[in-house]
Amino acid sequence: MSPALITRVYVGVGSNMGDKLSNCRKAVRLVGGMEDTSLVERSPFYRTEPLGLTDQDWYVNGVIGIQTYLSPQDLLRSLLSIETHMGRVRNERWGPRIIDLDILLYGNRVIDETNLTIPHPLMHRRRFVLIPMVQLDPDLIHPVLGRTMKELSDDLSGEGQAVAPVDGE
Ligand code: ATP
Ligand code: CA
Ligand code: CA
Repeated sequence: MSPALITRVYVGVGSNMGDKLSNCRKAVRLVGGMEDTSLVERSPFYRTEPLGLTDQDWYVNGVIGIQTYLSPQDLLRSLLSIETHMGRVRNERWGPRIIDLDILLYGNRVIDETNLTIPHPLMHRRRFVLIPMVQLDPDLIHPVLGRTMKELSDDLSGEGQAVAPVDGE
């Protein structure tokens, strides 16, 4: 085994049930407190329009940057256990949830495993991901598409994808 390296990772945070903003804040705290991991930065939170299943409440979304020694699979396991700990019950895909934690980017790694795809396969099509990513690092290059977060965001049609800052953020 080679020694574990620290990696910069971006994690998407979202909630559309209960006190969404406080759910997101709590999740950020819990992610920052995970073993072998530290929180580096957090985007503002945004109120965003639901995609996929549109007949549900608006979301609060943001993105955090962390540094971690956890492997991608161990990180996924830890994030899913924070979701469960916060009371998430898995129902239909894209349905309402107390908290959702997605691995968007794990350094420059490209991973295609049955339970884990990195970069997150839909991140470049989602304004609620790209707008916070641009806030954190507009020049960061998507390791598969070879385009910056700013370019990807500029390319995306805003149709049906309203993203507005949360007051006081
Ligand atoms: P979407 O992935 O389109 O945002 P979702 O977040 O609603 O949908 P979930 O029900 O939260 O989907 O997750 C389903 C599964 O997706 C997880 O159990 C996990 O194994 C898998 N998965 C694949 N790639 C990732 C990733 N990059 N980050 C988080 N989960 C992932
Ligand atoms: Ca998601
Ligand atoms: Ca998810």
